[in-house]
Amino acid sequence: MEVIFPRQCAACETTLTEHEEHICVSCMLRLPKTNSHLNEIPDGAKKFWGKINVKNTYSFLKYSKNSEVQNILHKLKYKNRPDLAKYLGNWYGAGLKEVGISENLDLLTGVPLHRDKLKMRGYNQADEFGKGLSESMGIEYDSDLIKRNVFTETQTKKSRFGRFKNTEGVFEITDLIKVKGKRVALVDDVLTTGSTLEAAGDLILQAGCSELTIITIALAY
Ligand SMILES: [Zn+2]
Repeated sequence: MEVIFPRQCAACETTLTEHEEHICVSCMLRLPKTNSHLNEIPDGAKKFWGKINVKNTYSFLKYSKNSEVQNILHKLKYKNRPDLAKYLGNWYGAGLKEVGISENLDLLTGVPLHRDKLKMRGYNQADEFGKGLSESMGIEYDSDLIKRNVFTETQTKKSRFGRFKNTEGVFEITDLIKVKGKRVALVDDVLTTGSTLEAAGDLILQAGCSELTIITIALAY
């Protein structure tokens, strides 16, 4: 197996040494971290200002085009690497726990994928990242808390306002009791415009969660 598929760093593609796993030591040090868990107002937080009440926003890596971080995200989406997503979750979760963030959270949950994408990919990278966070932070991860509804083309055209609002009615909470009064962290792979996280997060807030936190693998500025 090693000969056909040499173990490569998911970021820079160099061959990993025996003691390295998924990402080489040099990349582990060099990859651009946001360090948002150490900043008073993290860069990602302002994406939700005036939209939904997010208590904290934590993103692990800084995303930019044609970068090693993009390379990692690409592998999570298209190269069948659930193990890599979980590894990143383990790694970041340890850092979050170190500064006491796990003490302020009761439950982790992820933004669900479109059904077709899940079928094609076989896993949801947000879930795998979340499971990694869960392991190292010691907080429960629920992958079924939010359900994504499927809209057909016909339903889209029938929309009341003549246009389909991308996020409205897309998500559903499956267990309201689990959310009520809880400090919930919503997990996704990358925070870009924040519109998907906003829609899912809004729902969690409406279900009565006491504090909403966002955790992502990467942040696009
Ligand atoms: Zn590397």
